[in-house]
Amino acid sequence: MCVLPSSQTKKKFLRCVKQKDSAVVLDIQNKIFGRSAYLCMDLQCVKRASKTNILGKTFKINIDPLLFEELCECIKNLGENSE
Ligand SMILES: [Zn+2]
Repeated sequence: MCVLPSSQTKKKFLRCVKQKDSAVVLDIQNKIFGRSAYLCMDLQCVKRASKTNILGKTFKINIDPLLFEELCECIKNLGENSE
């Protein structure tokens, strides 16, 4: 599955955090306080998450589509650096 509860943290996941003002943001450095969910670091999984609105369901708010663009960018950038 693409979205994991915060207890199952692993390095190869992207952390999304719901901030106090209700916006969900990507938290690359694991610094933002708030309720979080983890997405696979995989473009297919991000696309699927976007389609199924699983983050919206997890956090019970509307997700800004820009978040998914940001996630995709992040995966692309990290992928280039990892080899
Ligand atoms: Zn996944």
